[in-house]
Amino acid sequence: MAMQSSFIDLDFDRHHIWHPYTSVTAPLPVYPVSRAYDVFLELEDGRRLVDGMSSWWAAIHGYSHSVLNDAMVLQLKRMSHVMFGGLTHEPAVTLAKQLVALTPQPLQKVFFSDSGSVAVEVAIKMAFQYWAALGEKQKNRLLTVRSGYHGDTFAAMSVCDPVTGMHSLFKGVMPEQYFADAPSCLFGEPCSDEDIAGLRLQLERHHQEIAAVIIEPVVQGAGGMRFYSPHYLRRLRELCDHYSVLLILDEIATGFGRTGKMFALEHAAIVPDIMCVGKALTGGYMTLAATLTTEDVADTICSGNPGLFMHGPTFMANPLACAVASASISLLCSYDWLASVLRLEAGLRQGLEPCRASGNVADVRVLGAIGVVELHKPVDMAVIQKQFVDKGVWVRPFGRLVYLMPPFIMRDEELGILTTAVCDIVDSMR
Ligand SMILES: *Cc1c(COP(=O)(O)O)cnc(C)c1O
Repeated sequence: MAMQSSFIDLDFDRHHIWHPYTSVTAPLPVYPVSRAYDVFLELEDGRRLVDGMSSWWAAIHGYSHSVLNDAMVLQLKRMSHVMFGGLTHEPAVTLAKQLVALTPQPLQKVFFSDSGSVAVEVAIKMAFQYWAALGEKQKNRLLTVRSGYHGDTFAAMSVCDPVTGMHSLFKGVMPEQYFADAPSCLFGEPCSDEDIAGLRLQLERHHQEIAAVIIEPVVQGAGGMRFYSPHYLRRLRELCDHYSVLLILDEIATGFGRTGKMFALEHAAIVPDIMCVGKALTGGYMTLAATLTTEDVADTICSGNPGLFMHGPTFMANPLACAVASASISLLCSYDWLASVLRLEAGLRQGLEPCRASGNVADVRVLGAIGVVELHKPVDMAVIQKQFVDKGVWVRPFGRLVYLMPPFIMRDEELGILTTAVCDIVDSMR
């Protein structure tokens, strides 16, 4: 084999490996990471980047945390995996107990799966099976709002924003759902009758076909990084009750403290019928997700035909993933995580506010440990990604959005490096 300038074979990567949302014929460069610890990603050439992404919402405790490492090693020595059909194990039971205790009281039943998208598929299937069991098979459509994101599998995709989710590409093969406009009342504002009119109209017209409304509570993530009023969710809960429609809350991005509440639904003090968690569930160590539901939904599903919930992934409740998730939740609950998130919120506000002065910036918004700089035009990824790396930070914008969601353990000094880099680079854009 020929001598390689780097240990990771980037040439092979470029020619053979698909990265998220990329072309294999005209790929942008990818950066080889050799190590990750604390809030840093270490590149193969020795450069150390301050991580502003938490690996897409997930690494809330930073990387290579000794508590999480130890939990995984301990579990690894017992068993890394066994099938979940007909068997059970301590990591799954402990984690389910924690999830039931942390989430609103009516959510009592836990279904484990391997990714957020699958947790959403499971939630949707639960809603359909619920109505089928009640003899209302025609309730098999969904209602959601624009600018949402719920994953990349077909049912999940069908409730993503129709434009950014490229619904035209899959027309005819993807189920068509009902949409209302994205919530217009912003976080911190009340929500008027007018703000909720679109939802109400769709429910009024189509409730006999609608099984569930699915929505990301308070923060719309990958569909636009928008923060909307918790009052909207309260009104939505009332509408769902009024029109006999289930409510699915997708907490995959917002769960485990990111918005300044353990779950974003707490901003509105509402209880969904079904709830999805993922991403930060394992502290970013492993892929794992869960769908929780009420006794009513679960019992109804099981009273229908065929009397079972029809889903069961091969790697359901993977013990390694459950063990590290359990350790991550215990770790989160063992310290004042809220103080950390509020400290990051203050730091993001202060650090990103100067961006507003730039002519390139349309809006700056911060909620919990999420900071967003919205630009007037989309970034040129080929240019901006290198600029961030050259400044020693890992920030991955999309479209017109440059955003930060650092690990909760990040110190003020590194947060300052991140926000300064964002402001400098955003201002220098042409
Ligand atoms: C990321 C995300 C998903 C999909 O999760 P995957 O693990 O990527 O499949 C679903 N819903 C929301 C709100 C997300 O942010």
